[in-house]
Amino acid sequence: MSMPAKVVGEDKVKKSPSYVKPWLGLKYLFKKPVTIKIPYEKIEPAPKYRGFHTLDWKKCVGCNFCGQICPARAIEMTWIEIDGKMEKRPHPKIDYGRCTFCQFCVDVCPTGALGFIESYILTTTGEEEELVLYDWVPIHPDKFKEIQEEFKDWRYPVEKIDVNEETGEVTYYLRNGEIFKFKIVGYGIRPPKPQTQPKKEEKKSE
Ligand code: SF4
Ligand code: SF4
Repeated sequence: MSMPAKVVGEDKVKKSPSYVKPWLGLKYLFKKPVTIKIPYEKIEPAPKYRGFHTLDWKKCVGCNFCGQICPARAIEMTWIEIDGKMEKRPHPKIDYGRCTFCQFCVDVCPTGALGFIESYILTTTGEEEELVLYDWVPIHPDKFKEIQEEFKDWRYPVEKIDVNEETGEVTYYLRNGEIFKFKIVGYGIRPPKPQTQPKKEEKKSE
């Protein structure tokens, strides 16, 4: 037996027209505005506010669980070379043009390598070279927290990212003046092919 729907009588919700009531809004003229005067006043994001990612490159085992769960397909596994030595496993590169900050990737990471911090502000002029900032392999949590502690403004920790398309060299100019360099040698879960490959092809064509 279906229960009859409970509906509140129209007489209870219908307001009678009034010429006086709209003027009651004037009482707010004398109250303190609730506006936050940014940038002169600051707001603190809630603890564990889902902001930018952090990545402990040493802990990341390149399992790609983060890449598989990402609903926005914002993660691309990236092979990296630091000081001429290739990392044993690929690391996630996150595209903030797609990321929804759901942090599913952080929840699924089995080693706790991927994390996040409350910092959430990233503004650019829209110039091509600045848009590179939206696509990064996150930095170590300690470094990110250190920069946030120094500036206390919840901004992205990198000022500029230089990418050399030909050599794959990437340079992060951190806001505290530090420079972090590495090289992207390939993408995907499989390691990139050794660079000796083209030479063999050249020989064949001869
Ligand atoms: S960040 Fe975590 S989930 Fe992603 S590849 Fe590394 S270890 Fe795996
Ligand atoms: S926060 Fe969500 S959308 Fe962003 S990279 Fe992680 S899983 Fe993808």
